[in-house]
Amino acid sequence: MPAIDLSVFDLFKIGPGPSSSHTIGPMKAGYEFIQAARALPAEALAKAAGIEVRLYGSLSATGKGHGTDRAVLAGLLGRSPESCSPDFLDDLARTPLAGRPVDLGGVRLMLNAGNVIFDAVEHDHPFNNTLVIRLTTADPQAAPLLEREYYSVGGGFIQIKGQEEPPRGTPLYPYGTMAELKERLAENDLSLPRLILENEMAVTGADETTVMAGVDTILRVMDAAVSAGLAAEGVLPGPIGLARKAKRILERSRIKSQVQETIIGHMCAYAFAVAEENAAGHIIVTAPTCGSAGIIPAMARIMRTRLSLPEQSIREGLLAAAAIGFLAKHNATIAGAEGGCQAEIGVASAMAAAMLAQASGYGPHVTEHAAETALEHHLGMTCDPVGGYVQIPCIERNAVSVVKAYTAFIIASDESPATHKVGLDQAIAAMMDTGRDMSCKYKETAQGGLAVCVATC
Ligand code: SF4
Repeated sequence: MPAIDLSVFDLFKIGPGPSSSHTIGPMKAGYEFIQAARALPAEALAKAAGIEVRLYGSLSATGKGHGTDRAVLAGLLGRSPESCSPDFLDDLARTPLAGRPVDLGGVRLMLNAGNVIFDAVEHDHPFNNTLVIRLTTADPQAAPLLEREYYSVGGGFIQIKGQEEPPRGTPLYPYGTMAELKERLAENDLSLPRLILENEMAVTGADETTVMAGVDTILRVMDAAVSAGLAAEGVLPGPIGLARKAKRILERSRIKSQVQETIIGHMCAYAFAVAEENAAGHIIVTAPTCGSAGIIPAMARIMRTRLSLPEQSIREGLLAAAAIGFLAKHNATIAGAEGGCQAEIGVASAMAAAMLAQASGYGPHVTEHAAETALEHHLGMTCDPVGGYVQIPCIERNAVSVVKAYTAFIIASDESPATHKVGLDQAIAAMMDTGRDMSCKYKETAQGGLAVCVATC
């Protein structure tokens, strides 16, 4: 298997919620398509009459609830996930059928939600989350001027049919598994965050200052999402009518007795805050996905405010968390549509456990065991969002699983490495096997589990 050549910023991406597969990926696809269309020859563009987007798989099954139509539309209208304002998305949601112009270099087309078609849930494309975008002429029988097939493969990543990934640098310390990663660390006498940083620089060509400035930006946006969610009140968008709870949980944690005012109450409030911001379609950081975006920011806020860990340790913890996310993505999946919720919330919890272990000064064995323990106790977790909205069970799941990450760290840090029986590679392999065997009903299609047993919308 090739070495991991992912970037930290592939994993931690800034963009609008509520689902990296359903919003950030499709928005990127729309944005990429419009750039490709603009590069067509003028004589081809002169024949352009419309744009058609077809959504397949879970993009079709739950795309309405996740806002996939407005996300892809925003991309086609020239917004990228990093630059798109939540207000623009809120406006698209408020007036979906209002025509909005897109300029293809002299040719102007009007787009609205009617350009996006929710097609087959069961299909023959090679990836569940598929979208096909076509630039059409006025003649319905004519071949499209441009057609691209995109796969939204989780965590906001997209692949384009027939296109190779652009070449990247070669990692300085190649590894594909946790076992190999530990070998590289021992051979080169490196700390885990240092190795991840060295590989990041080799793969992306960025220098250390640039990479660490990017890490600081990610941590800042994560913390801003915690603050925004704690300040917000009211009901989340969508037909469920789910009330925000983060602020109340924090207030109750503060006024309760010393015994009850635990770290757990604060951790839950922080995780709720970001998960609610995600559900509102506001800006979050994929960690590793939108649905699981509350876990690492909650852990980071706890590390800063309750554990008084220095900022440099938190930075290093984030790099260790990235290593766990890389391994899960490389050897299994981080997409709920492929592996169920174990691949999103489970991996996020494993990343947060590793982050805490690293930042607390433990070496790679404890960091691995913390991650493994967290992931192991999410195995089999299905993805069954009620009504297709990333609200129930997703928001509470962020809170429960940041607590699980903390518990996993306590277990791992209190254990001798020699007595730990399950490796992270084994837990990741088990997650992949379980995900493959999981019925499609439980993989972000809202056709099974809570999604059918809870009739709220
Ligand atoms: S159930 Fe889990 S995987 Fe599915 S949308 Fe919610 S957070 Fe994501």
